Amino acid sequence: MDTKGLRVENRWRTVVEVFLDQVLLKEPSFCRCDKCRIDVIAIALNSLIPDYRPAGEPFQPEEGDYVMVDEAVRKAVTIVKEAPRHDSGASQSILVNSNEDLARTVLADAVKHHPSQVWDEARLSWALAYILNEMGPKYTTTSKGDAYARVDEVLPGHLAEVYAIVFNALKRVEKESSVG
Ligand SMILES: [Zn+2]
Repeated sequence: MDTKGLRVENRWRTVVEVFLDQVLLKEPSFCRCDKCRIDVIAIALNSLIPDYRPAGEPFQPEEGDYVMVDEAVRKAVTIVKEAPRHDSGASQSILVNSNEDLARTVLADAVKHHPSQVWDEARLSWALAYILNEMGPKYTTTSKGDAYARVDEVLPGHLAEVYAIVFNALKRVEKESSVG
């Protein structure tokens, strides 16, 4: 099973962007370039516990969620305002959770060695979501060409940790799909 095509989303991303637009209404002096915008989003997302789901899965926001996001966005705006990095490079930046590539690679490998269950796309998407939630956020803004984390540069100790997270996620999905 190819894990590259699995679609998951961190539900905070959209919420952060909505709040950012609101906060910026009252910050006329804040730089409007793409780099500053994307930097704010990255910083805010890194300060929130990720909540990944397979793309398109609905979620139920809770009372405290928006207070948390609002605070995260305001702090991020302050950080970028004080030290904007928009002069550091002219190339177009994109936002990536750099854990994603590693998670997909390890997941593909784990499934290959444990073909005990039929890992369809839906189940693997849930597994990937659980893995990314467990790994925590690691958003970076990077120029388009080098968006992908280099798996071979990951420390062995960390890699073992990621494998443990992946196996736990697979176990959880297996359990949930046998119940439901
Ligand atoms: Zn800027």
